[in-house]
Amino acid sequence: MSRSDCINRAKSTIESRYNKSKFEFDQHTLEASLKISGFSEVDRLIQSTGSRIFYAAISKGESIEDIRREYDVAVKRKKELLVQNGFPADYCDMKYYCDKCSDTGYVGIRICSCLKKEINYELLKESGLYHLSKYQSFDTFSLKYYLEDDDNYQTIKNHLETLKAFADGFGDDTNSNFLLMGPTGLGKTHLSTAAAVSVIDKGYYVIYESAVNIFENFQAWEFRKDKSADVEKYSECDLLVIDDLGSEMVTAFTVEKLYSLINERINNNRSTMINTNLTADELVQKYDKRIVSRLLGEYYILPFRGTDVRMQKLG
Ligand SMILES: [Zn+2]
Repeated sequence: MSRSDCINRAKSTIESRYNKSKFEFDQHTLEASLKISGFSEVDRLIQSTGSRIFYAAISKGESIEDIRREYDVAVKRKKELLVQNGFPADYCDMKYYCDKCSDTGYVGIRICSCLKKEINYELLKESGLYHLSKYQSFDTFSLKYYLEDDDNYQTIKNHLETLKAFADGFGDDTNSNFLLMGPTGLGKTHLSTAAAVSVIDKGYYVIYESAVNIFENFQAWEFRKDKSADVEKYSECDLLVIDDLGSEMVTAFTVEKLYSLINERINNNRSTMINTNLTADELVQKYDKRIVSRLLGEYYILPFRGTDVRMQKLG
């Protein structure tokens, strides 16, 4: 599965929405034509307006003003007929799922937010975040596993609020980067998933993948010339979440890729979020000083400390 497969699936979702609206529209129009005398004539007049204006424009025969006036009268008459016969006034209007693009997926030449959202949804499903996203939202993040008198409680609460604010304001101004550091089981995945899902809800293109996956894709693309390994998405997405940095096999290649990816995204003002179990010292040992200095300079560091929340949930 590649990004373009996801895009095609999203497009067919939009198309089926259009087809559903069109089917309902046709059914309602047929029903009204059969039940209401005079409806078909009025409806036909409305349908022919476009081509009448077109011919009027090229032949300079009929007055366009007159056609428009007739159209307005016919639309009003159509609604009156519907209401008089016990139907809602908009019974025979095309009802779109998305009014912005009339379920075409595009506004002019720009991709509509509804299609963008469907693409992200497909990508979210592909990346394996789909199931997580149901359980790991901001709403399901519970602070009850963190002791309230503990310093960590306030820290985690601050992280929650910081990431919520980041997701809410995503795209409004300069995009921020985050480095979530700490041992497993303290909520890093939960909070980064929640942020990713919120950003997707706003219609942005988000990629959430493990570092292992990301570097495997880069290797497949670079060494095996595997064109199905879509690596452009890592540069192009509005938000990239790199999960579990440090679990991959660190080589000169991965270090270089990570450095250029981090740099490129900073230069293009695109947000990146990184989760890692590594400590600051381990980061310096495993990666380049250049990378660590980029992370410290351009990322908000969110430290997670405490006892494994998942163990407490089990207990
Ligand atoms: Zn739309």
